[in-house]
Amino acid sequence: MACAAKLRAEGFAGEIRMFNAEPCPPYEKPGLSKGRIGLDVPVSLVAPDLMYEAAARSISVTERTVGTRSRIVGPFDHIVLATGRAVVRLPGFDDAVTLRTLADAQRLRLRLGGQGRVAIVGAGLIGMELAAALSQEGVPVTLVEAGPRAMMRVVPAAISDNATARMRDANVDVRFATQLSRQVAGELVLSDGTSIPADVVVAAIGTHPDTDLARRAGVAVSKTGIIVSPDMRASFPGIWAVGDCATVQMADETFECQNYAAARDMGEAAALGILGHRPDWQPNTWLWSDQGETRIEGVGQADGTHDVTDYPDGGCSVSVSRAGRLVGQFAIGSRKALRTVRKAQSQIMNRANEQEAV
Ligand SMILES: Cc1cc2nc3c(=O)[nH]c(=O)nc-3n(C[C@H](O)[C@H](O)[C@H](O)COP(=O)(O)OP(=O)(O)OC[C@H]3O[C@@H](n4cnc5c(N)ncnc54)[C@H](O)[C@@H]3O)c2cc1C
Repeated sequence: MACAAKLRAEGFAGEIRMFNAEPCPPYEKPGLSKGRIGLDVPVSLVAPDLMYEAAARSISVTERTVGTRSRIVGPFDHIVLATGRAVVRLPGFDDAVTLRTLADAQRLRLRLGGQGRVAIVGAGLIGMELAAALSQEGVPVTLVEAGPRAMMRVVPAAISDNATARMRDANVDVRFATQLSRQVAGELVLSDGTSIPADVVVAAIGTHPDTDLARRAGVAVSKTGIIVSPDMRASFPGIWAVGDCATVQMADETFECQNYAAARDMGEAAALGILGHRPDWQPNTWLWSDQGETRIEGVGQADGTHDVTDYPDGGCSVSVSRAGRLVGQFAIGSRKALRTVRKAQSQIMNRANEQEAV
């Protein structure tokens, strides 16, 4: 949608058709794991003068057409792939709920009924946000994480620890270094031999880029997504890919998008490319997460030497450096701590981009 909106903002008056697999108009996904899950109405994403089509089932990169269940649409001058990510399912737990779409959030709400006890598997950003949101409603939640700490892939340990302490204060039962092994009549047996009560299991164990449509069309894809250059062009002329489904190949690195701001920037960059401009795209690594009343923000890399500051109000910030250079800044819980991220943001992103240009 960011691509369509940017095209219109830049004065593009041609036809734009939006192929949509969901039964509702496009909306902002971050709200799905925050607030009243499955009850709050997500913020709509809009652009002027779009024509809506059903889900795309196939594309022809030579004819530049898109096939739906009932017809072939096109030819188009440009096709932009923005298929997002698909959830990883929990092996052996076929009735576990996942959370990627509004329909998923509504399904979870229905499964909760008035009094469900929930086990969330995976203490990544989405599992943590969901645990906080449900516990705020008084839903009994157990969070089961195979790794040694929460949000391990994206934030430094001090931020994980602070978030976990807050989660436990909110009565969420957080278990690390264990996994589900089986379900026996309303109880889940964990790999460490303990059992937890649960009526609903939510799998929040990760996602992978949804490259199916692209792959079937012969567009180059890798494990990390549809391969694009820094102007979002895929491997055929007139075919572009943006957002969570794409992986940007830079000099000797790849950039994989998994956050809202980066997806928006990529969509806008593709729009400029389609209009014949050279977009000045730069990787956007800024992330945020709202876990109940607690906010986490971060920018840059989480791996490196950590300089931790704990604030008297309970907040915490972490500066990450490598070879004496600041490469990441993360914070949780208080305005003072969060300000350090906003302060470091342009320094970290500009430096990363300068290095990229070398
Ligand atoms: C629950 C949740 C919470 C999140 N919270 C945050 C957050 O706090 N902060 C943050 O920065 N990011 C967050 N994100 C990530 C952010 O929402 C994504 O990075 C962003 O939505 C990616 O945009 P996208 O357009 O690439 O993909 P999506 O928003 O996933 O949109 C892709 C769309 O393509 C559709 N589609 C797939 N295949 C087809 C097809 N063949 N035909 C037609 N349509 C198709 C899908 O149904 C989907 O609607 C969250 C994501 C989720 C799911």
